[in-house]
Amino acid sequence: MPVEGLPNPTIHRLCRRCCRWHHLHEGSYEEVSSSGPFSWIVNAYRRQADPDATMIFICSACKRPPATPAWVQALVSLGIILAIAVAAWWLYTSGTIDHLLSGMGH
Ligand SMILES: [Zn+2]
Repeated sequence: MPVEGLPNPTIHRLCRRCCRWHHLHEGSYEEVSSSGPFSWIVNAYRRQADPDATMIFICSACKRPPATPAWVQALVSLGIILAIAVAAWWLYTSGTIDHLLSGMGH
């Protein structure tokens, strides 16, 4: 639960993703991820100067990967299978129809 009202910096930490204050136990510190070679150099330099500078607080809610429920994954894989099945069926039937039509031409 985000902190309502005035945060207390000794027991609360500002989440760097959602910019809301959380209790210390509601998140953990993470190393700043480097998005490119330049930020990697900057982060490496900062880490040497102050090891804590590259650590940011992320609340547990933000830490979770974007929610992809199991049923969505199942639905997606089912959709792919279904698409392949439909494509195979379409290829099969269209080929059969062509065969029938050419057969009728004779
Ligand atoms: Zn957050």
